[in-house]
Amino acid sequence: MSEETASPVRPGPNRFRDTLERGGFMVLGEVRSPGRDLDPEITRERIRAFEQAGLAAAGQPAGLAVLDGILCEDFYRAWELADALSPENRDRHLVYFSGRNHDGESALAALEGTRKQGIVNLSAVSGSAMPEETPRKLQSRRFFESTRMLRLCGERADREAFFAGATVNPFQYSADSLFAQLAKLMRKVRSGAQFVVAECNWDMLKLQALRWYLNSRNCFIPSLARLMFLTPERVERILGGRYQGIVISPDFHEILNKELRFSRSQFESAQWRRIELQAAGCRLLGYSGVQLAGLDKPEQLTLAADRIAGAMREFTDFNDWLQAYNSYQARAEMAPMPSSFYLYDRSLVSALPENGAPLMRQPDPAEVTGVERFRMHLAKFCFPHADRQSRDGRRLLKKLLVGCSGSCVRCRLPQTMFVCTGHCPKHLEGICGGIRPDGTCEVAGVGECVHRKIMRLARAYDRTGCIEDAPF
Ligand code: SF4
Repeated sequence: MSEETASPVRPGPNRFRDTLERGGFMVLGEVRSPGRDLDPEITRERIRAFEQAGLAAAGQPAGLAVLDGILCEDFYRAWELADALSPENRDRHLVYFSGRNHDGESALAALEGTRKQGIVNLSAVSGSAMPEETPRKLQSRRFFESTRMLRLCGERADREAFFAGATVNPFQYSADSLFAQLAKLMRKVRSGAQFVVAECNWDMLKLQALRWYLNSRNCFIPSLARLMFLTPERVERILGGRYQGIVISPDFHEILNKELRFSRSQFESAQWRRIELQAAGCRLLGYSGVQLAGLDKPEQLTLAADRIAGAMREFTDFNDWLQAYNSYQARAEMAPMPSSFYLYDRSLVSALPENGAPLMRQPDPAEVTGVERFRMHLAKFCFPHADRQSRDGRRLLKKLLVGCSGSCVRCRLPQTMFVCTGHCPKHLEGICGGIRPDGTCEVAGVGECVHRKIMRLARAYDRTGCIEDAPF
């Protein structure tokens, strides 16, 4: 349905939004949609059971995060299975929208379907490539940008009916990757994100830095942290690169190995305690909830919500929490590589910045080679107004100088430091959360993430603000 024909909808009750905005703490349990080759009824049953488990949690408001499938080429959309949620409780839950296999038209249809299902809380992600997908295979795939989805929500006549959010991966350990993520985050906020969900990791310093950064930008939107209940198999899969954008540092891996040394049940108890400590820490750092990945059974959601409620009663003081957290994690180094960049001081000493605004650390100067500088200046000389000209203008020269593949709808070279974003295998307009710690693309064989390279050049020429303000 088009914007003109959609009937205006008055925002109804929304317990998810209210919990976030009124200073509560939401616990969401993840359920994923299956591939189209599987029976969706099994997942519907799972959703019903998880919803009941969330409702049974006494200590803490709990709901579901229904996500689109990963690790399969085509999957049921999360919103298609949302009819399994009880109509009177749909405002407690969050439904994800993955841009994989979507274009503008199908995204609009999905949004309409979402609204008809009575879903009001939505989180937009651009979608992941599968670990075995090559750049060649991805040429025929489409990934609809999360920023565009957010803008589509905002353009609807019934936009007030939606509470739309976005995700960010703040667990970046080089300045270029981190600044590229933060620039994209601010673009998502500008596109209409009303809350943010941080990707999964165990580095509390990075979670703290994200809150401090948002505050320093006067961006007081609620945030949730995605946490993962680990099993030995999941640890192996993360180490094997099966979960894009999630990393385990060598120190943390050692701790996990020690926890596994005696028995599987000991390992499991250790993970519950870790979830408790992380969630309580998130609360003290100003997060408004957690989204729990890795819950295999519905009753684990009730247990998780109750244990998190208990942990929040146990830790009401940041210093007490810090002492318990540090001794539990044995002060392990959570950065996956040496000389990692942190936006603020690397000591987790206070929940809120001391002495007012926290001081950002200055990263080392960006490293740009002579060849990169030469190419950029040449492209700038040849295509200074490429964004205002026909996309196909001087195509051959563009192909020679910047490797243009002609895949973009509109040329954006002047806004991207004259680096062609067509080299991004997902054809995204900004960085995605799947980038690897060393700055290479989540898709094997691509090399450095294109958007990280753009940020690297922007830093070298003091133009980082332009990347954030890019009009797309
Ligand atoms: S180039 Fe960057 S944004 Fe594009 S898919 Fe790779 S990691 Fe993601």
